[in-house]
Amino acid sequence: MPSSSRVQDREEVYRSLVISLFSENKTILTGAIASAAAMAMTAHHLDSLIIWLIAFATLVVGVGRFVQGRKFAALHDPAKLSAQQIRKWDISFSIGAIACTSLLGAWCFLAALPGDPFPRFVSVVVTFANIVGICTRSSALPRLVNFQLISMVVPMVAGLYITGDEYAVLGVLLIPFMISLQRIAQVQRRVLLNTIAERQRAEHIANNMHTALENIPQGVVMFDADGSLEVSNGHIQQMTQRTARSLQGTTTDRMLTLLQQTGNVDQAEIQTLRSWLKNSTERSFNQTLHLGHDKKRVVRFHASRMDKGGFIGTFEDITKEVAAESRIEHMTRYDRLTGLINRSYVTTLLSSELQTCPAAKTCAVLIVDLLKFKKISDMTGPQTADLILCEIAQRISRVVDPKALCARFSSDEFMVVLRSKYGLDEARHVADKLLDTISEPIVIRGHSITLSSKIGIALSDHDSHADGLIKQANVALAAAKASEDEAWMVFDEQIGKQLETQRQMEDAIRTALDNEAFELHYQPIVDLKNKKVALCEALVRWNDPQLGRVSPSQFLPLIEDMNLMDELGDWVIKTACHTCASWPGDAAVAVNLSAAQFRKGRLVSVIRDALDSSGLNPARLEIEVTETLMLNDVEAAVEQLNAVKALGVRVALDDFGTGYSSLSYMSKLPLDKVKIDRSFVTGVNQDPKLQLLITGIAALGHGLDLTVVVEGVETEMELRRLMANAQIDLIQGYYFSMPLDSIQTDTLFADQSDAMKQMLAKIPSASKRAA
Ligand code: C2E
Ligand code: CA
Ligand code: CA
Repeated sequence: MPSSSRVQDREEVYRSLVISLFSENKTILTGAIASAAAMAMTAHHLDSLIIWLIAFATLVVGVGRFVQGRKFAALHDPAKLSAQQIRKWDISFSIGAIACTSLLGAWCFLAALPGDPFPRFVSVVVTFANIVGICTRSSALPRLVNFQLISMVVPMVAGLYITGDEYAVLGVLLIPFMISLQRIAQVQRRVLLNTIAERQRAEHIANNMHTALENIPQGVVMFDADGSLEVSNGHIQQMTQRTARSLQGTTTDRMLTLLQQTGNVDQAEIQTLRSWLKNSTERSFNQTLHLGHDKKRVVRFHASRMDKGGFIGTFEDITKEVAAESRIEHMTRYDRLTGLINRSYVTTLLSSELQTCPAAKTCAVLIVDLLKFKKISDMTGPQTADLILCEIAQRISRVVDPKALCARFSSDEFMVVLRSKYGLDEARHVADKLLDTISEPIVIRGHSITLSSKIGIALSDHDSHADGLIKQANVALAAAKASEDEAWMVFDEQIGKQLETQRQMEDAIRTALDNEAFELHYQPIVDLKNKKVALCEALVRWNDPQLGRVSPSQFLPLIEDMNLMDELGDWVIKTACHTCASWPGDAAVAVNLSAAQFRKGRLVSVIRDALDSSGLNPARLEIEVTETLMLNDVEAAVEQLNAVKALGVRVALDDFGTGYSSLSYMSKLPLDKVKIDRSFVTGVNQDPKLQLLITGIAALGHGLDLTVVVEGVETEMELRRLMANAQIDLIQGYYFSMPLDSIQTDTLFADQSDAMKQMLAKIPSASKRAA
């Protein structure tokens, strides 16, 4: 124990001892009155003025000590007296006490002197009585006991001894008696000291308990076996708005009423608590209570019964925990960007909806896909894309039934679950509304953006489950996306089969790529002026053992979706270069590129490798790009095209006129050639305006120093019309030749080949052209 606390303990003990001196104040007065009365009797008997004076003085001292005792008792908290103050009280008590015993001693001496037995007897008896009183009352301070005994007994013994008769013996006998009484006083002091030490320990423990109780974050109550409150801490006082003192002894019933009134706890919650207290035999009990008018404060109540009866209860404020939990729950259930429910939560909700949905009623699941959103996001930047998604989320929520579930299903897909009683007609109607609202222009940061979307719909039946239904809606969506005319589709058996076919095709594609089962066919492109096949366009072909011939428009989008376009593209470039290198003369090969090949930024090295390994003159290679390919990042595309051109490879803009920005790309990109799309040619016989357009584009192309190619020429008529009205350099189309396999191409290029002669003979002569 550190010395400072030992000093403190000593002071504490001394204080307690001094306090004990004042504990029996009334006996001091009664003792003084009794002593004074006995003195008066002897004064009267001996007719001694001095004994009268001693009796009076004893009474005065006794009253003075009594008043002093009262003053001490009136102190608010003697335990808080300083060491100095306690010392003062000790001294004043001791003075009173010694004054009292000195008077008694003087009286005994004077009463003994005349040799009269009566005063001797009375004084000895009274002194004895006082000795006993002193030894008990003043036992706390042995020094004081000694002083008192000496001041009282020495004169008495002296008085008795001086007279020299049998009382002298009594006087001598008094000495051992006094000594043994003094010993008893010592023993009593030890007992007193022990009691003080025990009390100090108990107080210390109680203080610690109190500190602990007031510093724990929980509210604590302890009710005894009779159901009255024994212990409560500050939290409880705050909760019930009562002081500790007024809560002491409160019954459980009253406590529950207080909780209900001041804490605003619901009657039902109080009732549950009450029935546990009254009726349950369970040892412990937990309950969540909602406090306040808004019920936002949440408290967890836990109670355990105690062995000796009664119970101890804790109230823990879990408002923050609950809020954090609900925030986490919100994060796991809701989409952070749009605030709509997320994919996993909508699946959970749909599951329970299907379980509770009676067989007659129907749920409808609609998956909405924003078309080309990735490209829009790349163009506008992620922040604008986020704003667009939020706007779409709001629009979707606005147009559907408030009871419907709206969810963000994936980055650019939303899902709507129409709950109960939704048949096919209602679902179609909602789909139309969704398409309309999404297609309204969105104005963000001064730009107007128009989105289009496709929707897949699935309707539940009696044994539908969430995952299956969502899969069906996805299949219907894929079918809608594949369809040119339908903006939404409802899942049915046929669509299911289509999906199955698609899955088969995906498997077959993987195998074909592994086995290099793709082929390249080459479609000749004829130079009208020089009357020769200037180049051939390499077109990929796939003849699967099971699926038969599959058109590129079917399998290329799949390969794109499967992220395998890169792999196929590399193979095409390599194969085309090798094949072209085997052709005689300077006939070139044109290779179509896909967006994936641009995205990865490795196009230049792939082309360089293909040229190196085949030994093909770069001037004999041409790449065809479309404007949709450029959408991602025009700058990066231009950079790559420049690098490709730097190798000596030519660049053609394919499908010119099918997009919105063909003209702007025509000036932006480092081009050598422009290929006017087949759609212009197909309508040229019916619509004279198209002819005008071709004429204009061709003129523009030449103005920019580009070679002009027209694709998809199927008839002589088309060719003549084109040649009559526009300045076209090259023609590609079935009229001259279908795409040919590599053997047929070799034959075509063979010296003096008939096939070549026949094809070139189809070019009208200059005179015919004018006609
Ligand atoms: P594209 O680049 O516009 O290729 C021309 C398409 O038009 C070819 O279709 C060709 O067979 C067809 N065609 C040519 N002359 C005529 C005609 O007179 N009339 C009609 N109706 N069609 C004609 P194909 O081979 O089915 O290819 C379709 C598209 O697939 C191509 O359009 C091209 O975008 C893409 N494609 C083909 N092969 C590849 C390839 O190796 N890589 C990439 N990235 N795309 C390819
Ligand atoms: Ca092409
Ligand atoms: Ca084309």
